[in-house]
This record gives sequence, structure tokens and C-alpha cells, in this order.
Amino acid sequence: VTSEVRSAAVIGLGLIGGSLARDLAARGVEVCGYDRNPDDLRAAVDAGIVSQPLDPTFSGIGDVDVVVLAVPVDGAPDLLARVGAATSDATLITDVGSTKGRIVAQATALGLGERFVGAHPLAGDHRSGWGASRCGLFTDARVYLCPTDATRADLVRFADRFWQGVGGRPCVLRAEDHDRKLAWTSHLPHVVAATLAAALAGAGVSREELGPGGRDMTRLAGSSPEMWTAIAQDNAVAIDAALAAAEGELSRFRAALAADDRNALSARFATARTWFDR
Ligand code: NAD
Repeated sequence: VTSEVRSAAVIGLGLIGGSLARDLAARGVEVCGYDRNPDDLRAAVDAGIVSQPLDPTFSGIGDVDVVVLAVPVDGAPDLLARVGAATSDATLITDVGSTKGRIVAQATALGLGERFVGAHPLAGDHRSGWGASRCGLFTDARVYLCPTDATRADLVRFADRFWQGVGGRPCVLRAEDHDRKLAWTSHLPHVVAATLAAALAGAGVSREELGPGGRDMTRLAGSSPEMWTAIAQDNAVAIDAALAAAEGELSRFRAALAADDRNALSARFATARTWFDR
């Protein structure tokens, strides 16, 4: 982490926030933190990662250089208001949420637009909680940065150096473009994995019965329901457009099967293979 960062506050010490806190502490940054789960907050303090636990008002947050919100996306807007009130104009406020439109709009509405830079690191996996957090999670990870229309240019550069400091590869993207893109690259695969798992559950098929392909396809079904419900609601319009396309593909498969149309079936698999080979 750049020498500009001496202190940071991480709110939400789960997989993403906990991993970030570990990386920051390992680089000599003084980390204060908060999690509404008291066991995880205590574990982070006992591990020597969080040096100062915060209370829910964040009154002890002081003059930290950066605050990172790392909670499910439906909880972040409320926390943003409290963080804004507890910190000074010098503090960069950022987050790690998987959707960006709502939090960027909220930062603007709260008058925090000048010092907010939304962030989304493409890192992590289906596990959750402090127990799953680890050092090095962000190494080589793409990190989308979504400033508001009012973010100060020096704070966008600061956010860029901050994420580079924990190994990330930041790039700036408008929040609306981020959400449309992620509907395809992340949210559609998660919803399809959840749909597949639900269909298998309905048919009484357990995951142990699956071969390697089926296991690959259903890994994302193990993701946190709390986190994914919030993402789905937040990006509903863009996810629906992607799901409509997937539904169309499923219909074409079903029609080809019903008609016993070998050419049509082969064309569906060939389209998939061409995409894969590219
Ligand atoms: P997680 O469930 O592992 O951690 C979330 C933590 O936030 C938990 O410890 C929970 O107790 C705490 N929390 C929830 N609401 C809170 C509140 N109001 N106040 C204080 N603490 C609260 O989830 P995660 O995987 O670390 O995800 C955190 C954020 O990162 C989410 O917004 C998610 O969209 C985003 N994200 C996740 C991944 C991933 O692969 N898991 C990847 C990139 C971004």
C-alpha cells in the first residue's frame, strides 16, 4: 500500500473486508474495523488485524485516510450516511460492492460525491465470513473503480494507488456501464448456477452424484444467499435482460429436442464451442 495510507477503517469483516484488513495490516497500516457480528469482530481483533474495534456509530473512527464499506450491497447505503457524518473531508470513502449504481447515487445524494470512489474487486469465491478471509486475495484481480460525477481527481488517483497497493489492477468505469457489464459476466452465471441447483434439488439429485462437469457448473450455488439476494434486487433490470437471452437459448434447445432436429441441436452446441474456443 502506498505510504499515503497510514490508517484505514474496514466496515464488514467478512471474506472481502477481512481479506482487505489482513492485507492492509500486513503492510503496516493501522486498521480499525466494525462488523455487526460480534464474534467476527472479536476474531479480527484477537488475530491482531484490527487494532481498534468501532461501535455502530463509528464515533471512534477519527482521521483515517480511507474507509472501506465491505457489507452486502443493500446494507451499504445506510452505513455510508453514518460514515460520512463520522469522518472529515480528507477521508476517501470507498466500498467493494458487486453493484455500483445505487451506492454511487447514494453518495451523491448524501453530499459525499467529492470523496467517494466506488470499487468492485473481481476477487473472492463462494465462501463467506471472516473465517474465509485470507491475505493476497486481491493479487492480480481486476478492480473496477466507479467515481461519482463530483469525485475529486486526486481521490480517484488515490483510490487507484490504494487498490494497486494490495495487488489489484484498477480501471475506471461508469457505474451504469459496470452494472450492465457485470449482469452478464457475473450475475447471469450466478443466477443460472442457482437455477441449476434448484432444478437438481427438485429432482432429488445431490451434488455428490454429479461428475466433475456438474460440480464445476454448481460451485457458485454455494454462494451467500444474503449477498446474492441484495445483488439481484439492486441490478434487476440488467439481470432480467441477460436472463431473457438465456431463456431464449433454453427454449431453442427444447424446441430442437422436441423436433428431434439433429442439425438444430448441433448448431446450439457448436455456438457454445465457438464461444469457448475464442
Ligand atoms: P461476507 O458475507 O463474507 O461478509 C459480509 C460481512 O458484513 C459479514 O461479516 C457481516 O456480518 C457484515 N455485515 C453485514 N451487514 C452489516 C452491517 N449493516 N454493518 C456491519 N457489518 C455488516 O460477504 P463478502 O463476500 O465479504 O461480500 C462483501 C461485499 O463484497 C458485498 O457487497 C459483495 O457484493 C462484495 N463482493 C463479494 C465478492 C465475493 O466473491 N464474495 C466479490 C467481490 C465483491
